[in-house]
This record gives sequence, structure tokens and C-alpha cells, in this order.
Amino acid sequence: MIYLVEHFYSIQGEGRYVGKPSLFFRFGGCNMRCEGFGCIERAPDGTSVVGCDTVYAVNREHFVQNWIAITHIEELLGVLEQYELPSGVDVVLTGGEPLIYANEPLFVEFLETLYERGHRVTFETNGSIRVDFLKYPIYKESVYALSVKLSNSGEPLSKRLRGDVIHSIVSHAKESFFKFSIDADSIDMGLEEEIDEVCAFAPNTQVYCMPLGGSKAEIERNTEPLIEFCKTKGYIFSDRLHIRIWDQNKGV
Ligand code: SF4
Repeated sequence: MIYLVEHFYSIQGEGRYVGKPSLFFRFGGCNMRCEGFGCIERAPDGTSVVGCDTVYAVNREHFVQNWIAITHIEELLGVLEQYELPSGVDVVLTGGEPLIYANEPLFVEFLETLYERGHRVTFETNGSIRVDFLKYPIYKESVYALSVKLSNSGEPLSKRLRGDVIHSIVSHAKESFFKFSIDADSIDMGLEEEIDEVCAFAPNTQVYCMPLGGSKAEIERNTEPLIEFCKTKGYIFSDRLHIRIWDQNKGV
């Protein structure tokens, strides 16, 4: 069983392909909670749930009633046909953590079909879930935006940093890059060493740093300190264009 939270055709708002028209599939569920990011979302049952800016796609307990249970590939392919897409448009598989479904036959078949139809597929992943590239070589064709979580996520180190997984993805995939969400306070609290620690598992992989925040105001607050940080370290600054343009609106 796969859960789809939402789908929308927009532009990529962050990372290497910012500005590229992309069809997003946001899948439900994640192996982390990242309560350290402090975004609060009201669940359908009235509970205020703390997590990341996509907590509504993470927290199954409180949000599953809004998710779509997918049992046949036709339901996912039907989404593709709902939109008038240019041929070969980018498809982004995000979440939550999309790779929690990596071994689901339905998910693998969907990926294969996307490639047969000429799409480029990017996984937006936390880089902590092992992909079986031997059993499912189709995963080698994808782009991996590795948004490895740092201590500001509130997740324990052993859970958020899996060097073997990072190394495996970077060495098998056609393309991959790191993408970190950073707030001004964390820059002063030794975050630099944490990023170095992550990158040591995949040297020569490009690093994009984005301002942390689930709202336009937070993004703006964190932007200038982050630009200074990127200038010092030689990292690539990435805006979060979708939040800057659409603020807290979802599905855009
Ligand atoms: S790993 Fe990503 S999607 Fe999952 S809780 Fe953390 S920030 Fe949210």
C-alpha cells in the first residue's frame, strides 16, 4: 500500500533544478519526525502537530485520513494524464520520505513507467533509507536530492546520518547532490562541522544550502546569514522559491 498526499504541477522551488517545470508527487509517511524544525500544523482531528514544513505528509497518526491509498499503478498514471504536460517534463517524488516505498512493486513499476515515458525523475530524500540498486537497477537512473538531516532536526545522529546509505546512493546514482535547510542560529552553533561530517561520506558532491522555514517570514529571516555562510564555505545558496512566492500555501 502506498499513500499519496498530493500532486501538483509547478516549478521546482529549490536545489539544482530550481525553476524547472515539474510534476510533484508527494507521498505520505516518513521514517523521521524532525520536531526540531518546529512547524505546527492543525490535523483534521484538531490536534496541533509539530514537525517539519510537510508534517501533514509525515505524521500518519493524525493526517492519514487526508491521504489517498494507492493500490494500482493506474491511479498514479491517471494523475499524469490529468495534466497537460510538455513531453519529458521533470517528475519529482517527494514526501514525507518517498523511499520508504522503494521496495514496493507498485512503486518500482511506476518509476519504470516514468522512464519509459521519457521523464527525468528526482527523489527528494533524507538519505537514510537504503536503496537496493542491484535488485532494482532502475533506481540508478534517478537524481537524488539528499536532504540529510542535521542536529537542528531534533533527530538522533544514528537515525539521521547513515554514511553507508549516502555513499551507496552517490556511487550508484546517475546524479546526486546535498541539500541542507539551515537557520541563522544553527550557523553559530557548529553546524559547519556537521555538514563536513555528512559530506565526508561523498566527497566532491555539490552542496546546496537553503534557508530553513515553513513561511516566507522565516525564510527571509534566515536568508542573509545563510548567504554569508555559503560565501565562507563555497556552498551554493539555494532559495526556497515556492515558499517565497506562495508562502504557506500547499500544492503549488
Ligand atoms: S526527514 Fe524530511 S520529510 Fe521526514 S520529517 Fe524530516 S524534514 Fe520532514
